[in-house]
Amino acid sequence: MISSKPLDIPCSLQERKVLEKIALAAHELGVPAYLIGGFVRDKLLGRRTKDMDVVCVGDGIALAHKVAESLGNNIAVNFFKTYGTAQVKWNDLEIEFVGARKESYRQESRNPEVVAGTLEDDQNRRDFTINALAISLKEANYGTLLDPFNGLADLDKKIIRTPLAPAQTFSDDPLRMMRAIRFASQLQFTIEATAFTAIQENAERIRIISQERITDEFNKIMLSPKPSVGLDLLYKAGLLKIIFPQMIDMVGVEMYEGKGHKDNFYHTLQVVDNIAENTRDLWLRWAALLHDIGKPATKKFEPGHGWTFHGHDAVGGKMVTRIFTRFKLPLHDKMKLVKKLVELHLRPISLTKENITDSAIRRLLFDAGDDIDGLMMLCEADITSKNKTKVKRYLENFELVRKRLKEVEESDRIRNWQPPVTGEMIMETFALQPGRIVGDLKSAIREAILDGEIPNTYEAAYAFLLKKAGALNLTPVK
Ligand code: ATP
Ligand code: MG
Repeated sequence: MISSKPLDIPCSLQERKVLEKIALAAHELGVPAYLIGGFVRDKLLGRRTKDMDVVCVGDGIALAHKVAESLGNNIAVNFFKTYGTAQVKWNDLEIEFVGARKESYRQESRNPEVVAGTLEDDQNRRDFTINALAISLKEANYGTLLDPFNGLADLDKKIIRTPLAPAQTFSDDPLRMMRAIRFASQLQFTIEATAFTAIQENAERIRIISQERITDEFNKIMLSPKPSVGLDLLYKAGLLKIIFPQMIDMVGVEMYEGKGHKDNFYHTLQVVDNIAENTRDLWLRWAALLHDIGKPATKKFEPGHGWTFHGHDAVGGKMVTRIFTRFKLPLHDKMKLVKKLVELHLRPISLTKENITDSAIRRLLFDAGDDIDGLMMLCEADITSKNKTKVKRYLENFELVRKRLKEVEESDRIRNWQPPVTGEMIMETFALQPGRIVGDLKSAIREAILDGEIPNTYEAAYAFLLKKAGALNLTPVK
């Protein structure tokens, strides 16, 4: 029966098999079921997707149980009674089940009053026409695309449009404003003009949304092919000034005595796009976003010289902690990485000058450690000059820095530096208790190696230690 019928969306054999099982289970329970939302949209766009959303006119949790049973033994159903939703994982697919619902919203919350509804009610509560597309899993019209709001045409025209009046849609659930901009950036679609105006008018309502949800959407924008699209829309919508005021401080150019500086906001967006061409790593993209965040706070006009931003690397590094805390981003490894890259982002530039010593190269390897490649990527992304000759020259300079880094690393192994003579060894040699002297001797060895005074070997470090300790009247006990 069902299995011979074609689907209006392209699906793999495995996906077809699952859909047929859902259809059969729904038929046996007597509840009409539909595949809806992101999966349908992404399949029509030819994007990879593994999350299926199924809506049924009836009990979604009961349907989930029946489907799980038919897929095999021991398939778990995670369900949330209060929300009436259930989730089943099968191979690499994640299938969400929910009963069709009708929603009504209150002013102060994005959590609506929910009552059971029809498929139509359910499609009405979807955020965008392209997310309201459904595929029938009913026997009578199995596989047919149900498209009440012309979502298919919008997919084709690359337009984000709300099914109902935009002002109502965004005011009801302000997270949808972030979602609209995220889809525009992710799919490279345009937000319909009236919808965008409604976002601008409702921007303030974003304050009722939890930071976790905002951050989730923001990170999806950061991971989109050209994050500047979403970031600029957030700015123009008036959302950025609420969710990320430090970015707004970078907007604009100040003129004094006929001299301006570059617009740090648009420069930053360009740097994020540049790095996005080379990496999908969210944290390297965040480092690009924040690399100049300390500029507004350090901006000065120096007569006869022009605009300066002295210390913006260190000030920016401090701001990373505050911003990560505000965004509820991971405060350990990831924050440390971004902070380090922001703090170090000027160092490779200083190494493009003439007569750079091996010692300066060693110090950068020591400070950047394993993040040296990410740092070099950030520095190259930071080149946003329109002048092709300049860009070429800067890139060649960085190429030379990379070469020197490689040579020095090969001979001195500084990147994952471990002291060749440890604190314990020092304490044992001179029968010392932990304390300042041990620390001073350790740093003296490190500095001597980084300065190139001695090679990075045990023998050299030990001989150096004996000499240093001798000057302090310490003698080895063995
Ligand atoms: P992605 O999975 O890429 O984040 P998606 O569109 O699938 O995109 P989900 O959060 O998985 O987003 O939601 C699935 C579907 O639920 C959406 O396609 C949409 O129909 C509906 N939906 C999700 N969030 C909202 C919302 N805030 N308002 C209205 N409908 C929503
Ligand atoms: Mg989804």
